[in-house]
Amino acid sequence: MSARRTLIAGNWKMNCLAADATALAGGLAAKLKAAGDVNFEMLVCPSAILIPVVAEAIAGTGMQLGGQDNHANEKGAHTGDTAAAQLKDAGCGYAIVGHSERRTDHAETDAVVKAKGAAAQTNGLVAVVCIGETEAQRDAGQTLEVNGSQIAGSVPDGSTAANTVIAYEPVWAIGTGRTPTSAEVQDVHAYIRAELAKKIGQDEADKTRILYGGSMNPGNAKELLALADVDGGLIGGASLKVDDFWAVAESA
Ligand code: PEP
Repeated sequence: MSARRTLIAGNWKMNCLAADATALAGGLAAKLKAAGDVNFEMLVCPSAILIPVVAEAIAGTGMQLGGQDNHANEKGAHTGDTAAAQLKDAGCGYAIVGHSERRTDHAETDAVVKAKGAAAQTNGLVAVVCIGETEAQRDAGQTLEVNGSQIAGSVPDGSTAANTVIAYEPVWAIGTGRTPTSAEVQDVHAYIRAELAKKIGQDEADKTRILYGGSMNPGNAKELLALADVDGGLIGGASLKVDDFWAVAESA
């Protein structure tokens, strides 16, 4: 059995008002508490403005809290942005960086993602570094090449298994109901681990959790989470309902 503890992470994106967030986080926290010992770690990543209410709803449950992004700089004149130190101060243990929606909507390059990840790590957060190919890149047979180059360019220098999680999210699978085959997911994850080893060493790469993301749901989670190099999931749509997210977690 792998020493890597399964991480079930919910990316709530730009969803929920405070009351919804309290109900969702509270519902999950209640299930986690009732379940007692579980073989997974549960993480929720709400919009920055919801972090305090979610922190309150999950207090004392062991559930983890994360941001969806942080600025690369420590502080200063960056209107509308959130500093990694502010996420940490608000109770976060994780920060997603480089999600494909940010790479697209905010033109974030690998270099930007790497700097954001480094800021997260410096401030005591685990950086969840997202990578993944587009449909056009997949169709062109560039899946491995693209993911290898994103590992090389987006993972901060000095990353370790303790301060880094990789999320492989094929862009074409996000929110579409489509997923790669299990064999394809395993192949890409194994490749990512090998590329990561070139960067941080085999020992750390072997200990680093690599999540799959892209239309993971209660129907496909068991098969995906059973793959040798899949160490959890980053879940969007299915993380917005207590029963669905819990069912994914229970598949671990
Ligand atoms: C995501 O955006 O991180 C994601 C995986 O979304 P979904 O599960 O909805 O495909």
